[in-house]
Amino acid sequence: MIIVIRPETTEAQIGHVLERIHELGLKPHVSKGETRTIIGVIGDESKLQAEPLQAIPGVEQVLPVMKPFKLASREMRKADTVVTVGANLSGVQPVKIGGGSLLMVAGPCAIEGEDILRTIATAVKAAGANLLRGGAFKPRTSPYAFQGMGEKGLEILRDVGHSLGMPVVTEVMDPRQVGIVEKYADMFQIGARNMQNFDLLKEVGQARKPVLLKRGMSATVKDLLMSAEYVLSEGNTDVVLCERGVRSFEESTRNMLDLSAVPNVKGQSHLPIIVDPSHATGRPDLIPSMAKAAIAAGADGVHIEVHSCPEKALSDGPQALLPPQFAALMADLRRFAELMGRSF
Ligand code: PEP
Ligand code: MN
Repeated sequence: MIIVIRPETTEAQIGHVLERIHELGLKPHVSKGETRTIIGVIGDESKLQAEPLQAIPGVEQVLPVMKPFKLASREMRKADTVVTVGANLSGVQPVKIGGGSLLMVAGPCAIEGEDILRTIATAVKAAGANLLRGGAFKPRTSPYAFQGMGEKGLEILRDVGHSLGMPVVTEVMDPRQVGIVEKYADMFQIGARNMQNFDLLKEVGQARKPVLLKRGMSATVKDLLMSAEYVLSEGNTDVVLCERGVRSFEESTRNMLDLSAVPNVKGQSHLPIIVDPSHATGRPDLIPSMAKAAIAAGADGVHIEVHSCPEKALSDGPQALLPPQFAALMADLRRFAELMGRSF
């Protein structure tokens, strides 16, 4: 930690800052320049972070040296984390995410019924998707919009996915839903609207199934990593991040896809990160190029919504790819990934 002292601060005030540092059991190193004094502090930075040092008269700036996220940081772990979803389930092909293994999550926005889910799931599986998605609890802007099928939907998702040999991921919106979602799903999804639902993050942190954590629509990369830290600090080490676009002034796309988040996260963290061009763009005509760009940027996978009849979909129909569009994209992505030395 580096503490910058304001010019014209008295010796007594500097002495008080040093006293506070000593009280915390840390060692200050004072460096006096012509006009400024800087204090370097060696020791457990977390002790200082909890102190409102900035409130002491004479303190101009407090600069941390370590990243505020520890368990999620590259400093903590040099090698890429590889997350496995659906391990030890009979008849189900587990998926590895990270370290060169790519994830393709595909499926409808919401689970709407068994027959329709089976039609979509069979198509995405045949095209090469390795994780089936579908929401049973849907975060909708309007309370009058379709809210999801709840537990019945979870059961359908598991039965359809597992009968096709695919593990399944679904959104959990509330700490009270964690138990029931864990019973059926192989991976929890935390949606953009809940990225900073800290009680929910703690609850899935105590569960023992992997977590797909989506970036909040106005969250910084640091906010995203701090949210991952909540899950990791509770003991669940299997976290996969997801860039899904942030709010911007642009009106022709649903959100603005921040592809730089991929190498940005990779430089700072060992956790895998995937990209969701469906929610990022909201437009089927833009999804294929953004999916390819995601792989080129180093993403560990792609998340795409597919529906066999988008005009009848109960949520996010306009952004859904049709199964043949998804199959064509998947064929392109496979060749593309191979060029980059990675595979689905
Ligand atoms: C979804 O995956 O259907 C969803 C609601 O995504 P997001 O949380 O990114 O908006
Ligand atoms: Mn959706």
